[in-house]
Amino acid sequence: MASYLMYPWFVPLQQHMARAFAERQPASMLLASQRGLGVDELALWLAHALLCQDGQDFAPCGQCAACKLWQAGNHTDFLLLQPAEGKKQIGIDQVRELLPFAMTSPMVGQRRVIFIAQAQLMNQAAANALLKVLEEPPAKAVFILSSERPGALLPTIRSRTVRLDLRPALPEQGLPWLQQQLPAVSADQLQSLWSQSMARPLLALALAEEAAKQQSLQQVALAWMGQQQSLDQWLAAYKDWTMDEVLSCWLQWLSAWLARDLGLVADKLPWPPVEPQMLMQLYDSLLLDQQGLQQGQNWQQQAWLIDFAWRLRRLPRSVN
Ligand SMILES: [Zn+2]
Repeated sequence: MASYLMYPWFVPLQQHMARAFAERQPASMLLASQRGLGVDELALWLAHALLCQDGQDFAPCGQCAACKLWQAGNHTDFLLLQPAEGKKQIGIDQVRELLPFAMTSPMVGQRRVIFIAQAQLMNQAAANALLKVLEEPPAKAVFILSSERPGALLPTIRSRTVRLDLRPALPEQGLPWLQQQLPAVSADQLQSLWSQSMARPLLALALAEEAAKQQSLQQVALAWMGQQQSLDQWLAAYKDWTMDEVLSCWLQWLSAWLARDLGLVADKLPWPPVEPQMLMQLYDSLLLDQQGLQQGQNWQQQAWLIDFAWRLRRLPRSVN
């Protein structure tokens, strides 16, 4: 996990923690949040603040020995728990291994910090094992749990931790940040991303990136249909895409395209007007392919893309 970033919408909770924990810190905390706010980064900041030896204002000083170790990425009193490479869950072995770490005296400062990222990913056995540890926490260990689905945690774990909620960003915190990340995006688009993401700036950014990716693919498709691009360029545009992504994306586009050509919506889409009957056939055939994929059918993606490309180019334009 990379070092944390400081986002403007972290500030209220950081200030709250500074006030609440200035004298004494709880032995275990749960940072609860929705997706798209960067709660794991905030948890890393909290871990760093707890390890810093300066202790002024409950913020990492960046100067002390602990901060230097943290910045070098090898603080011996910090342990991160997350699903092992290629796994989707945090297993019981990982929780068992943290116990000796938590029981051992800190090597640098006053405490050891254990961060369990996205704690809802612990399987049942792991969660039960952690619960036992939290019931009698080792004297010099602090546990930080983060979760974007706090409701999925064992109620007993929730009740053993001090819960801190990371709230969705206020517009004045999130919008200027978002504008900085997306300098080319208009104020209207920014507003629309903001409401789509429900005030979660990192989600808004991901939505914008997805939209940009789709837009560039649409341009490739239009150029191919207009005979301004080669088949190689068409194929290259999909090199990072899975079959599933290609099908979902095109099904979405075809359904919007069809709705417009049937006169159901007045969308300003870039696609040329086409006989709705033919669009419908193409849509149905993609739907079948998607069902086949879900039932485990194996597609030769490249062959499929070539076939689909020619079907797109041969779509008969409608007269009006
Ligand atoms: Zn420090």
